[in-house]
Amino acid sequence: MVVVDIADFAALNIAHGEQAGDEILRAVGRRITHVAETHGCIAGRVGADSFALGEVRSHEENPASDGSSTELARRALADATGSVALAGLEVALSGYAGVARVRRADGLDTRDVLVAAENAAIVARTRGHGAIAEEGEHTRREVGERLAMERRLSLAVESNELSLAWQAQFASSGELVGVEALLRWQTPDGPISPVHFIPIAERTGAILPIGEWVLAEACANLKRWEQAGLPASFGRIGINVSLVQVERGDLAVRFPAICQAHGVSPRRFELEVTESLMMRDPEGVGRTIGALREAGFALAIDDFGTGFSSLSMLRKLPFERLKIDRAFTCRIVHDASDRALVGAMIDLARNLDMSVIAEGVESLEELRSLEALGCRAHQGYLGSRPLPAAAFEPLLRAGRVTMTPPG
Ligand code: C2E
Ligand code: MG
Ligand code: MG
Repeated sequence: MVVVDIADFAALNIAHGEQAGDEILRAVGRRITHVAETHGCIAGRVGADSFALGEVRSHEENPASDGSSTELARRALADATGSVALAGLEVALSGYAGVARVRRADGLDTRDVLVAAENAAIVARTRGHGAIAEEGEHTRREVGERLAMERRLSLAVESNELSLAWQAQFASSGELVGVEALLRWQTPDGPISPVHFIPIAERTGAILPIGEWVLAEACANLKRWEQAGLPASFGRIGINVSLVQVERGDLAVRFPAICQAHGVSPRRFELEVTESLMMRDPEGVGRTIGALREAGFALAIDDFGTGFSSLSMLRKLPFERLKIDRAFTCRIVHDASDRALVGAMIDLARNLDMSVIAEGVESLEELRSLEALGCRAHQGYLGSRPLPAAAFEPLLRAGRVTMTPPG
């Protein structure tokens, strides 16, 4: 059994409209059918954007046939994911495939082999576009681990495995002007990076309770600092917010309610959302963001420069700040074209009445280049690494840092 999945089909549907999405599915369906016919196997659509090809083969017919189902997968994937012409537009498709083989003697039925091939396709997806994975010990383990991780993650809030790290933001002068709350997940087997678990939490919906926990914990921390007599008047606390949270729509009700329950003003927070946000449902997102601002939250675009936001959307959505992604910051000293890009981002922000902060500033040279371009705020290892709350307190008390050359 071969299962072929179309990559990012949901995004294609949103970008080009559902009619175009249907057209893409029909085109892929025709191609898969054609491959099935030429290889003498059966084919069908087995999920929203996934297709299966099944082949029954006896050992006598083809004793050395093991490689050929991989060959079938390669053919099906290559044919199915060519580009599709839609009303004057060529849409490039890509995908991944899973392969599973079973012997009738193993007592497995069609459903088992389909599930096995789908699991292999899930593993292929994690390896990137165009990947083919074969079901086996390995894929069973990966799928098992993923399911275990999903379960653990759904319990992470209750089991007290989450915490926040605090990364300071500074003005050129070295003055503390804000701090970003960064989520940490400590499992019994060690820490897992948010880069790995946030996408899983987004897929399962666990990000909703987790996201609310982050804001509540930030409120509680702010209260603790106030009660300990620490200066609490530094700038805002940056909270990362996922698209999934914003799309739920009631964020504009839940977030102010969490602040109110803790006796903290939403004005203490800056919500960071990534650019990809603006690709999908801009009207709904615009409404939620408008309401959040109304409630007092500031809004920032995180990882700016890595997504696909359109300039008109930037103008329409009420963001106060751009966070220039580390990918640009780290090349600004040696790469003239990256320096030009960062300069353009800074000008863009200025013209739209937004402020800018550079992320991932690791060296004084980077800091100087940014200043020369007019960027006056920075966050990164140069100023401070993300710190546990207790380690952040001295910095909070000092209210500033001295930028000295490292080493
Ligand atoms: P981000 O919001 O862009 O956060 C910045 C990331 O860059 C953080 O990684 C931070 O530790 C890292 N960083 C900061 N300065 C430097 C530097 O000078 N050099 C280098 N190499 N890295 C630096 P982290 O903590 O692993 O977080 C990764 C991403 O996970 C965040 O990117 C954010 O998108 C997401 N994330 C973190 N916490 C949350 C959360 O509470 N909710 C949601 N939805 N996403 C979160
Ligand atoms: Mg962020
Ligand atoms: Mg960022």
